[in-house]
Amino acid sequence: HTGFIAIVGRPNVGKSTLMNRLIGLKVSIVSSKAQTTRHRVSGILTDDTAQFVFVDTPGFQTRHQNALNRTMNRTVTQSLADVDLVYLVIEAGKFGPEDEQVVALLPRDAKVVLVINKVDTLADKSSLLPFIERIRGAFPFAEVVPLSAERGKNVDALLKVSRTYL
Ligand code: GDP
Ligand code: MG
Repeated sequence: HTGFIAIVGRPNVGKSTLMNRLIGLKVSIVSSKAQTTRHRVSGILTDDTAQFVFVDTPGFQTRHQNALNRTMNRTVTQSLADVDLVYLVIEAGKFGPEDEQVVALLPRDAKVVLVINKVDTLADKSSLLPFIERIRGAFPFAEVVPLSAERGKNVDALLKVSRTYL
C-alpha cells in the first residue's frame, strides 16, 4: 500500500528537517534523484502497514507576481494535484502573508494536515490553542499536528494520522 505525500510551506519552516526526521524513523530509500513518472521523490518510508512516498515541491515564490513565479506556482499546484495527502508546514506562533499565499495554492478538495513545527520555541505553551483556532479558519484542514521536527517530538503522531488518509 503506497501513499504520496507532498510537503509544502514557505522557506525556513523546517520542511527538510521534518523530512529527515520522518525518514529517520525507519530508514528506507532516500535519494535526491529518485523520480516517479509524476513526482520528484525526496524520500520513501516503509513500515509494517504502508509505504509513504514524500514528494518535493519547488520553492514557493510569493513576493513577486511575475511570469516566472506564476509558472513555478503552477508547477507546485500540479504536484499537489496527484498526491494522497499534503503537509502544510508552518512555524508555531507565526502565520504571516507568505504562509497565507501558500495556503491560497492548496486545492480546496485536498486532504491537508496542518503541521505546526518548532513548538519547542514557544515560551508560553498556552498560546498554541488560540493560534490553532486562528489558523483553522484559513483552510478546512483534515488534521492539525503540533510537533518539533528538530527534537523529534510528536513526529510519530504525524505518521499515525497520515496512515488513515493513504
Ligand atoms: P525548510 O526551508 O522549510 O526546508 O527549513 P529547514 O528544514 O531547512 O529548517 C530551517 C531552520 O529551522 C533550520 O535552522 C532548522 O534547524 C530550524 N528548525 C527546523 N525544525 C525545527 C524545530 O522543530 N525547532 C526549532 N527550534 N528549529 C527548527
Ligand atoms: Mg528545505
